[in-house]
Amino acid sequence: MISLYSGEFLGLSVKDLMIPSERVAHVQVGNSLEHALLVLTKSGYTAIPVLDPHYRLLGLISTPIIMDSILGLERIEFEQLDTKKVQNAMNTEIPRINVNSTLQSSLDLLVDHPFLCIEDESGIFEGILTRRTVLLKLSNQVKRNNRK
Ligand code: AMP
Repeated sequence: MISLYSGEFLGLSVKDLMIPSERVAHVQVGNSLEHALLVLTKSGYTAIPVLDPHYRLLGLISTPIIMDSILGLERIEFEQLDTKKVQNAMNTEIPRINVNSTLQSSLDLLVDHPFLCIEDESGIFEGILTRRTVLLKLSNQVKRNNRK
């Protein structure tokens, strides 16, 4: 039986596992949807954080959200990409976790979200915690325990 409570897994701080903000693709709230689509397509990610000029976390923008917001009655109105702004399309109802929280408190949220945005007490974006990173850590922990 493996113990996940040993501090080697559930007790870890999300800070130890996060992808830091400087390595996270993001857009600014005032960017056009065309720019956001470009960043999403080039990075290959389905959703990325939206930040304000002070690096505060405002929401997420994704390819499906962008497509939905330029969907006309009979066609996709690509010409709107240039004029519509991220701030009018982004999803602001997102789970946020504090940079000092433990992995344990994030697990339930990771069931429903492929990644979680991490912020400090003032709402400044610190990075993201991905489901992939957590599963990788768990897998390594299980292998280590099996060798004992
Ligand atoms: P992954 O588990 O690595 O496939 O990542 C899951 C999701 O997390 C991706 O589809 C993105 O939405 C987001 N993500 C992961 N890494 C980054 C990154 N470096 N920059 C922006 N978003 C990321």
